[in-house]
Amino acid sequence: MKFRIVTIFCIMMLALLIPVHYFVAPALWWYPVAIAVMYVTMVFLGCVTLSMNFFIPVLCKATTTEKVVALTFDDGPNTYSTQILDILKVNNTPAAFFCIGKNIAGNEAVLQRMDKEGHIIGNHSYTHDFWFDMLGWHKMLAELQQMGIAAKHATGRQPLLFRPPYGVMNPNLAKAIKEGGYTTIGWSIRSFDTKAKDKEKLLSHITGQLKPGAIILLHDSRQITAEILPELIKRIHDKGYKIVRADKMLNIQAYA
Ligand SMILES: [Zn+2]
Repeated sequence: MKFRIVTIFCIMMLALLIPVHYFVAPALWWYPVAIAVMYVTMVFLGCVTLSMNFFIPVLCKATTTEKVVALTFDDGPNTYSTQILDILKVNNTPAAFFCIGKNIAGNEAVLQRMDKEGHIIGNHSYTHDFWFDMLGWHKMLAELQQMGIAAKHATGRQPLLFRPPYGVMNPNLAKAIKEGGYTTIGWSIRSFDTKAKDKEKLLSHITGQLKPGAIILLHDSRQITAEILPELIKRIHDKGYKIVRADKMLNIQAYA
């Protein structure tokens, strides 16, 4: 675990440097401060960059030379889930939906459709609350389990794949994931569809980054995502890529 190594390294450096500077060169007091700043920066980057695998392993792409990519949709079931499912069906394209537990009540039929039409459902927490990352690991684990219960109630299956809300990781969440036995899924292409306004820019931003084994992050809460999806699928195919399901591409188990 990189987090543990960096922490031990910084503590050791401070333990060595503080006495040295205190007794030998008091003027160099800023050395320990520099180490502390470096440590905080590293931990912050580890929190916001899933692909650093800083606290826990995160699968952000598949290791393959085959021209395959996976589509993933976060924050469903949501306003455009049905429209997206229709487009995926017409194009015979599989996807992964990382759903929010509290959105499932009243939308069980949407989840059942995702499942029946060959997509997989992943866990994206129960509340997706703004303060989720401030919770203790017990509460985080309870959120993941609560989402699992809601998904199982709707489809009979309990998701094992988890995508952190806001793409943020921290030591408490890493502990909750480990205790719950979940597999963490990130992405290698962040579409920024939550901010995008220009369809053409969004399409070229995604297709310009295509690589074998890429995982594409999209949201079924966004109208623009539903609007570009048919063209996105077409352009991915035109570039010689096949769209496959994330669990199959990564060769991992999607459900408990
Ligand atoms: Zn989200």
